Amino acid sequence: MARLLDQVFGHKDLISKMLQAFSGERPGQTFLFVGPSGIGKKKIAIGFAQALLCEKTRTACGSCPGCLRVAAGAHESLKIVLPTGSQIKIDDSRDIIEFLSLQSLTPRRVVIIDQAQLLNLQAANSLLKTLEEPPAETYFFLLAPSAAGLLPTLRSRSRTVGFKPLKSEEIRRGATEAPEWAVRACQGSFEKLAQLLDVSEIEIRGQAFLVLQQFFEDKEFLTENTWRDIFKERQRSQRIFSYWISFLRDVLYYQEGQKKSILNVDQGDLLKMISEQKRSRLLDFLEKIMRVELEVGQNRDVQLMIEELWVHEQDRGKEI
Ligand SMILES: [Zn+2]
Repeated sequence: MARLLDQVFGHKDLISKMLQAFSGERPGQTFLFVGPSGIGKKKIAIGFAQALLCEKTRTACGSCPGCLRVAAGAHESLKIVLPTGSQIKIDDSRDIIEFLSLQSLTPRRVVIIDQAQLLNLQAANSLLKTLEEPPAETYFFLLAPSAAGLLPTLRSRSRTVGFKPLKSEEIRRGATEAPEWAVRACQGSFEKLAQLLDVSEIEIRGQAFLVLQQFFEDKEFLTENTWRDIFKERQRSQRIFSYWISFLRDVLYYQEGQKKSILNVDQGDLLKMISEQKRSRLLDFLEKIMRVELEVGQNRDVQLMIEELWVHEQDRGKEI
C-alpha cells in the first residue's frame, strides 16, 4: 500500500512545503484549504493525516498499521466531518469536541472538516475555542471552495493554504480515458470532469451542437420541431446556451489561429463551417446568445427568443 500523498495528482510543491513544515518546529495546527471542488483538497488532507499519524516517519511510510488504517478510512485518531444535508450542524461540532475529550491512543490526532463553509453559526461558534487553542498535537484541516464563504472568526484562526485548479496534463494523467474536449473544458477539476461526462450531460451537449448546426444551415429552421422540443425545458436550454457560448468562443479562437485555446476539439467540422461567418457577425451573435442565456432565467419564452434570433441572423446573412 502506497502513501496516499503519492496518489494525488498535481499540487506537488504545496505538498512538499507542507510536509516540510510538519517536520519543523511550529507548523501550525489549524489549516484552511481553499480552492475549487474536485481538485484534490480532501485527498490531500487525508494524505497529511496519514503523514501525521504514521508510526514511522513524519511524511507517511504507507505501510505501518497507522498508515494502513488511515488508507482504509478506519483510524481511531482521524475524524472526518461531512455536511449532513446542506449544513454542518451543532451535533457535528459536539461530536468533534467529544472526540477530542477522549484520551488519545496515538501521539497525534487529526480532524478534517469538509465543506467547512457549510458550518452553521451555532456549529462554528462552538468550535471557536477549540480552534483557537487546539489540544496539543491535534491538527485541523478545514476545506472550502473559497475563504470568503467562511465565517471570519474561523478564517482568522486558521492558516490559509490556497489550491489552484489542476493543469490539463494532470487531469489527463488522472483520467486517461477522458476525451480531450472534456479535459480542456473541466477547468482543472475532476469533479467538473465527471459532471461533463455524465450520460445526460453528454446528450445535452450533443443536442447543443446539433441545433447550432441546424440554426446556421437549415433554411426551414423555423418549421423544424427538433429544436422546439429540446428548448422546452428551461434548465436544459440554459445548458445548451452555455455550450453555444463556449463553442462561439472557440470559433473566434479558430479564426485567430489560436488552436491551443479551443475547448471543443471534437467539433472540427462545425467549427470550420461556422468560422466562415464574418467576425463582426459572430461577435454580435455571441453577444445575443449571452443575453438570451441570461433572459432564460427570467422566465422569457425560449422558443420565441430563438425565432427572433434566427430571423435576425437571416437578415444579417443577407448583408454584404
Ligand atoms: Zn506509516
